[in-house]
Amino acid sequence: MTVAHILGFPRIGSRRELKTALEAHWSGKLDEAGLQCVGQDLRARHWQLQRAAGLEFVTVGDFAWYDHLHTVTALFSAAPARFGLGGRVDLAGYFAMARGTAEQPALAMKKWFDTNYHYLVPEIGPYTRFTLNRDWLLLDVREALALGHRVKVVLPGPLTWLWLAASEPDFDKLKLLSLLLNGYFVLLAELKALGVHWLQVDEPILALDLPPDWLAALPVVYRELASAGPAILLATYFGSVAQHAALLKQLPIAGLHLDLARAPQQLDAFLADWPQDKIMSLGVIDGRNLWRTNLALALAKLSKAKAILGDRLWVSASCSLLHVPTDLAREHKLDPTLKSWMAFATQKLDEVALLKRALDDGEDAIGDALQASTAAAQTRRLATTTLRPEIRARVAALSEADARRGAPFVARIVQQQAVLNLPPLPTTTIGSFPQTAEIRAARAAFKAGKLGEQDYRQAMQAEIRYAVEQQETLGLDVLVHGEAERNDMVEYFGEQLDGYCFTENGWVQSYGSRCVKPPVIYGDVARPRAMTVEWARYAQSLTTKPMKGMLSGPITMLFWSFVRDDLPRREVALQLALALRDEVCDLEAAGIKVIQIDEPAIREGLPLKKADWPAYLDWAVRAFRVCASGVRDDTQIHTHMCYSEFNDILPSIAAMDADVITIETSRSRMKLLDAFAEFRYPNDIGPGLYDIHSPRVPSAGEMKTLLDRALSVVPAERLWVNPDCGLKTRAWPETEAALRLMVSTARQARASLG
Ligand code: GLN
Ligand code: ZN
Repeated sequence: MTVAHILGFPRIGSRRELKTALEAHWSGKLDEAGLQCVGQDLRARHWQLQRAAGLEFVTVGDFAWYDHLHTVTALFSAAPARFGLGGRVDLAGYFAMARGTAEQPALAMKKWFDTNYHYLVPEIGPYTRFTLNRDWLLLDVREALALGHRVKVVLPGPLTWLWLAASEPDFDKLKLLSLLLNGYFVLLAELKALGVHWLQVDEPILALDLPPDWLAALPVVYRELASAGPAILLATYFGSVAQHAALLKQLPIAGLHLDLARAPQQLDAFLADWPQDKIMSLGVIDGRNLWRTNLALALAKLSKAKAILGDRLWVSASCSLLHVPTDLAREHKLDPTLKSWMAFATQKLDEVALLKRALDDGEDAIGDALQASTAAAQTRRLATTTLRPEIRARVAALSEADARRGAPFVARIVQQQAVLNLPPLPTTTIGSFPQTAEIRAARAAFKAGKLGEQDYRQAMQAEIRYAVEQQETLGLDVLVHGEAERNDMVEYFGEQLDGYCFTENGWVQSYGSRCVKPPVIYGDVARPRAMTVEWARYAQSLTTKPMKGMLSGPITMLFWSFVRDDLPRREVALQLALALRDEVCDLEAAGIKVIQIDEPAIREGLPLKKADWPAYLDWAVRAFRVCASGVRDDTQIHTHMCYSEFNDILPSIAAMDADVITIETSRSRMKLLDAFAEFRYPNDIGPGLYDIHSPRVPSAGEMKTLLDRALSVVPAERLWVNPDCGLKTRAWPETEAALRLMVSTARQARASLG
């Protein structure tokens, strides 16, 4: 019999019940007992879904109050001393670390591999000790057992936890391994005593490039864990682990899970001489995307494995379903055809179970479902909305020249300066101004049909007028319209592009109680009409200063959406680039002389393995260039990126060839600029002069120090002055105060330049 299981289920709830309860608890409106009830109910419901679908096991341990990696930190009492929590971590301590306290900033947050989920970074050092705080896992296990479920427990692996932890740079984190293993060992023995037969240990770091000492630790860890009790299913995902095939085959584990959605080709490296005593779990259903599985294709893949593995074959989704929305049944407004192409977490449970049945009882056993799946795949393949020949032809016809500006930067900047006539150290902002309650209310009323189009336009124009007046008063040099009409930088454009659709309840957890609802790219992307031109034209009409047009770039549009899986991403990126290129050209034609194309997500797209970086960077940079290169040489293109790790991708940033790049540098105190200087980054740079993440207004001295520092590494004639990022999360008073200071700091520096 084939075993059907999943690696994990979304914990937030189909109605975001966990979010609501957490936020009520944090604001003092729900006590801990009330919160516990909500958690218990969600777990019970999600287990029941798995059981009802016909899975062999329910997966226990995937629930977390904030983040699953953070739960391991609590499980082994590895709280950093600065929180003063003493030995055991209780729920209040858990949240204190996750959210910060009056005295202590929260643990840092980082993206979980190449997903948009964020984990809390453990802080460790030579002083770190581990004490098993078993309740953090065992209570859930007991709860599931008491409900009569067959349980498979999931736990992030010790190597992954250590690898993702932060420490002083010279500290060898592996020094803590044996102490940590002691904790795992005791825990595993207790799981066994509870009657848990299977333990899924997640080691996603195996898909990364790992140094030899970490690989050498792998057999040590799994020999130890295997001796503790339950049978271990080692789960890998997000990429191929074929490079470790020999090593993995020798581990004393009971089974291995492979992600065949991301890395189907890795199967061959394992199948041939897979040890007789081990099972293999194949993740053929995409756990990262919301498309319905083509069951016939999945079965073809699995049958080959079944012939070799027989009953040692397990079927699953590629990774935890944490990364997809919970239930498609909650979508009532989605076009029925589009809906028939999708499967959210709940539907993916059925898909896993169907595959199992087909493998065990033959395809006829799932005849109707198979037929429906094939029919959906067929309508998708033949749909005229997904394949538009004129768009394919336009992408195919793109030439080298389409991805190149007319003149090189040195010549362009002279022409641009002749048009713009800017002072040295020009001042600007990144695009958005405070999104006040009134703005949000007006947008919501318009969306709900309670505010007419005319009234809405007038309300937004009033906001633009206000933003322009403020900027004029402050004395900024290049103005922005303030983005009042935008809810979100991707959704705003997606709503106006063909090929995009939107869900009502397609929420996925981003971090803690925060969820995002990414738009869905299902078909060829096209721009039926101009998207931002009217707002930009209006804003420019209010001032003689240059007004920046403001767009989200193709790579950011791609990575912050659920992307179709029937076309390579590079191709989708070029479609987006062409749609945006038309917008760039229309802005230019409307008299806009400076156009900013935001690309905060370029770095997020970096593949997990370095060897795959060049190919990705190549198409990402090309997409940006296609988007930016349709304009005259005297039109100035800006880009903006808000993170602070550039060193390893600077050649690609330079290859984007934006005339001006604005970046986040204030928190690193301009340290990041050294890399730009060392690399001799050729074009203009606007390093952020102040942090926009807090309402705090920096002192004049702080700003001057940062600007002086920037001036010492970047030639004055190439330097711009701006905040780190957009100001939409700020209020007006601090925005005005900080910008006033920024402008006066720039003016003083200008004066001393002579
Ligand atoms: N133009 C956007 C803004 O100012 C940029 C946002 C971002 O970088 N994430 O809000
Ligand atoms: Zn930014």
